[in-house]
Amino acid sequence: MIVVHSPSELRSWSAGRSREGLIIGFVPTMGALHVGHEKLLAEARRGSDRVVASIFVNRLQFDDPSDFDRYPVTFEEDVEVCRRLGVDVVYAPDSNSMYPEGFETSVSVGTVADLLEGRSRPGHFVGVATVVAKLLNTVRPDRLYLGQKDFQQVAVIRRLVADLDVGCEVVTVPTVRDPDGLALSSRNRRLSAAGRLAALAISRCLFDCEAAWRRGARDSDALEADMRQALESAGLVVDYAVIVDASTLVRRSNDSSTRVALVAAECEGIRLIDNVVLVP
Ligand code: AMP
Repeated sequence: MIVVHSPSELRSWSAGRSREGLIIGFVPTMGALHVGHEKLLAEARRGSDRVVASIFVNRLQFDDPSDFDRYPVTFEEDVEVCRRLGVDVVYAPDSNSMYPEGFETSVSVGTVADLLEGRSRPGHFVGVATVVAKLLNTVRPDRLYLGQKDFQQVAVIRRLVADLDVGCEVVTVPTVRDPDGLALSSRNRRLSAAGRLAALAISRCLFDCEAAWRRGARDSDALEADMRQALESAGLVVDYAVIVDASTLVRRSNDSSTRVALVAAECEGIRLIDNVVLVP
């Protein structure tokens, strides 16, 4: 395994592998790797000849500067995780090579990026789309591996990949959870023991919603109200708890399309998100 810091070095490595006809799988991350990231890396390992993992805490996507300052950095451990999982290249550009003086371009994806997280975190998806476009231009992967945990992010990046003719396949990997249901997130390590317990209301209300959906409940207003009430009773500050169309993320009147229940809530000032897909 090699660790590469410069975009030009990575681009020439990638061009070499593509000339050899090798399939390159790519897992973008912000580091502080946990078992959720490991699942993405393992899937990439299984489905590709060469695996690139990027580790870059992208300040452009943080709407709250203090959130960026507190973001956990565990680079040495992350490199070991990548080595253990058979990653070929860790791409760890520094901020200056990603955003040198004079950098001005931004990528704005459109409607799917304006809703939900986009509304609550202005600029967040512009930051995500801009860094992902840069990473894709450097890595030139055949397959891009993303986690379902960030459901809207997957929708935004799928749009970007289609609209900008990136030509890679986007693979969505199911959310990895702790045994009690909490979706793994680098932010969980900032929760106290009590906060972690309260945060369980998020996955619990989503599982309850999914169970009701399976039993035939289709009244989105009632299902959303139940989720919100469960979250508030646990002391969480709800940003949204909604049921929307899984591809457009807008609310739909009854039909047979796949839906997704999406939740964003704050626990001890830490913003947590989770979702479950509701199959027709
Ligand atoms: P991050 O480092 O938070 O930017 O996440 C990097 C990638 O890991 C994104 O595609 C996330 O959706 C994915 N990811 C984060 N948490 C999980 C999880 N619990 N299960 C599956 N994928 C995840």
